Amino acid sequence: MRDGTGKLMGIWKDIKHLFIGMRITSKHLGRHAITIQYPEEKWTMPERSRGIVVLLSDKVTGELNCTACMLCAKACPTGAIIIDAPRDENKKRQLKGFIVDHGLCCFCGLCEEACNFSALKMATKYEFSSTTKEELVWDVNKLQAIGRDVDYIDTRKKKVAPVAKVTPVTPPTNSTEATAVAPAPEQAATGTDDKESGV
Ligand code: SF4
Ligand code: SF4
Repeated sequence: MRDGTGKLMGIWKDIKHLFIGMRITSKHLGRHAITIQYPEEKWTMPERSRGIVVLLSDKVTGELNCTACMLCAKACPTGAIIIDAPRDENKKRQLKGFIVDHGLCCFCGLCEEACNFSALKMATKYEFSSTTKEELVWDVNKLQAIGRDVDYIDTRKKKVAPVAKVTPVTPPTNSTEATAVAPAPEQAATGTDDKESGV
């Protein structure tokens, strides 16, 4: 008897949960689908998403904005950034190589925050899957090529053209000019000129 009641209770619970599930499904039936048919449809990532790391180029010259300051590599917690930038005879770093291992990257965004030269950005791109780890290691050329069409706000401080020095105008030293400009002693005393006095 007890077994029969237990079975009936179990069936009743199942029916109840079935109706709960159907109620939730019916609520979403007429709504817009959240999922997309990838890869036919592509997802546009929100502007501030942290996608793949790319290098940015100057919008005018097309050259890399990177100054090889190494800050991004030092900020990276996983060692995903490797920069080859030896110093020249003037002790200035020359960028020879820039590697980002997207297999090591944890997409924390610290490299982008560390960069003061608008040279590196986490782009709103996400299609970089690969069957080998080696293909996830991107060199400077690939990083620059993928970053070419990435829009960014250039926050670099441009050098301002030097302002021409203004030399003060020296007053005329010629005695005739000085006489013509200076008022007559009578005018200076009365504060009137010939026209006003009717002479
Ligand atoms: S996002 Fe984070 S882990 Fe990836 S390269 Fe930048 S600092 Fe390194
Ligand atoms: S990407 Fe930015 S932080 Fe990294 S080395 Fe270049 S200029 Fe420095």
